[in-house]
Amino acid sequence: MSTPTRKVSALFLVLFVTIIIFNNISPNMSHAADQDDDGIAAFINLSEATNNENHFYSALDGEWYVFPEMLLSPTEVYSYILRDYTSTVQLPGSFEKQLGKVSTYATYATRVKIPKEYVGRTLAIYIPFQYSAYTLFVDGIEIASNGQVGHDESSHQAEMAPRLGYMVPTTDEVLLTLQTSSFAHIRGGVENTMFIGAANFVSQKFNTNIIWSLFVNGCICIMGLFMILFAWFRRQEKVFLVFGLFCLLFSARSFYSYPFYYTLTMLELPWIWGTRFEYIFTEASILTFTWLIAEWYKQQFSKKVLVVTTFVMSFLMVITLFTKPVFFQTLYFNVVYIIIALVAYFIVIILRGFFTGSKRDIVNMVGLILVSAGSLNDYALGQGLIDSINLSLPAVGIYVVIHVILMSRSYAEKVFETEALNDSLIQLNATLDEKVNLRTEQLQKANDLLEKQALSDGLTGIYNRHRFNEYIRQAFQLSQENGSALSIIMFDLDEFKKYNDHYGHIQGDYLLKQVVEIVSHYLPSNSLFARFGGEEFAVVLPNMLLSEAYQIAEGVRQAVEDEKLAHMKRAGGYATISVGVASMTAQSTFTTEIELIDAADQQLYRSKNAGRNITSSVEKIHYFDRKH
Ligand code: GH3
Ligand code: MG
Ligand code: MG
Repeated sequence: MSTPTRKVSALFLVLFVTIIIFNNISPNMSHAADQDDDGIAAFINLSEATNNENHFYSALDGEWYVFPEMLLSPTEVYSYILRDYTSTVQLPGSFEKQLGKVSTYATYATRVKIPKEYVGRTLAIYIPFQYSAYTLFVDGIEIASNGQVGHDESSHQAEMAPRLGYMVPTTDEVLLTLQTSSFAHIRGGVENTMFIGAANFVSQKFNTNIIWSLFVNGCICIMGLFMILFAWFRRQEKVFLVFGLFCLLFSARSFYSYPFYYTLTMLELPWIWGTRFEYIFTEASILTFTWLIAEWYKQQFSKKVLVVTTFVMSFLMVITLFTKPVFFQTLYFNVVYIIIALVAYFIVIILRGFFTGSKRDIVNMVGLILVSAGSLNDYALGQGLIDSINLSLPAVGIYVVIHVILMSRSYAEKVFETEALNDSLIQLNATLDEKVNLRTEQLQKANDLLEKQALSDGLTGIYNRHRFNEYIRQAFQLSQENGSALSIIMFDLDEFKKYNDHYGHIQGDYLLKQVVEIVSHYLPSNSLFARFGGEEFAVVLPNMLLSEAYQIAEGVRQAVEDEKLAHMKRAGGYATISVGVASMTAQSTFTTEIELIDAADQQLYRSKNAGRNITSSVEKIHYFDRKH
């Protein structure tokens, strides 16, 4: 089956189901009231009226006496009957049809034959809402009343609540007397079918209706609240907000409309306000539903229609708030054609996207059909045109539930997607972390190496001049501050130029390395050994007096000599060094570290001049002596 065909079939299926629901929910008119045969004018014979579950249960439709513009007690009715009163009408029926006017009052009465086995058992009469006020008597006893029956608008007070009245018949024939009045309303009279039956059965039916309605209404209300809160916290789901608003307004409407459950609550609201709320919430629901469709079908929905609807509904709401029911109800039932046109417009818009469209279009189409059918039913019910029950509530309930299912599913899918994305992001992050750690480690190593390279001499591996300068400055400063001793040794390879000339530079480099190796092993651990430049080296010895430094210097010179590294151009045939030592103490300080270095250097040249392979030393005092 192709997709459009399938959709058309789905549409028809929904229509079909709607019709079936329509027909099945209609109240069970268990037994048609029989016309009596004993000549009494108003008589309803229910002696055989049992339903399929074998309970006594029947509508009270049939022939009733009517006493226009009279409010009679059962006794008075009885005396009329004895005098062969014959004016009768069929109930249910409106004042307008039976008495020719809407605002009036009357008494209705009839005699009802009940099944014999129910004599002495508790029976109940269920009266669904009526626009009229009424008082119901069984024989001489009042069993139910609604509002205040009156002769005029000031003494009359409507209430519109559904009522249950109980009685225990003592014979199989009872007289029902119903006083009723209606003023300041668009309709009046006994317009809705009353039911009589076994008490537990009737009250159970009555309660089941209430429980179902309240349950569905509660669901719609909670889902609406959820959607509004969701939209509020997300701050971007306008559709959710409008949908939520529609749900809340619609559930409020249901509370105030047929069968007027608000009248069963503790809320002591005058019926005029109950009616106002019913109309205001109806108009507000229509308005929010229009907004919802406009929001869903932004591209297709005409701005003009939106503005006009908003204006008309707002106008109606204001009128409803400030005028009498007769006025605003009449106005509403005239405007209803605009609403039907509006629904037709919705259908056209949704239909356009329906055959190509998404699940949402299908749901909207089905929902719109359900809600429209339900509302039409309720309208006809309100107008007294058909005998059915309130259907817009379950229709909206179904619609909302389907939407909530779709929305939850799409949200769950989005959350799954986000979670999957999140997981891969976490994984990416982890590998990124690893990479960063690795790179950091490598960088650290490279840095360490660079630092070392920056501070050390490339050929010999000991500290370079740069590091030496830095160290001697710090050591000098520390020595001055603490008054501690500081010594420095400088040495230079003897006749190294000749060595290079004879052995070549590569061998020269090697000799430098060898000398450094020998000296390094000889020096104490707290000393700093550096290449001062070319074949000249320096050793810094913190906290060391001249005598000790001299010993080390002499040891170093001796060690190199003892190694007997071949140097053909030297007198002895092996390489030697000339050494100079300078020291400072608390008593004999140099002014700068340069002076100290210079002093050591001077001593080195003294050794050179004295014939090489010699250690010379000086303390500051001697240094000055020599100069002067
Ligand atoms: P003296 O005993 O007076 O110190 O004589 P000398 O020849 O050692 O001194 P001079 O300053 O005349 O020569 C130093 C030589 O050291 C010159 C230079 O070629 C050599 N030299 C300096 N640095 C290096 C180096 O890194 N490697 C090599 N192979 N030779 C170097
Ligand atoms: Mg030299
Ligand atoms: Mg030199």
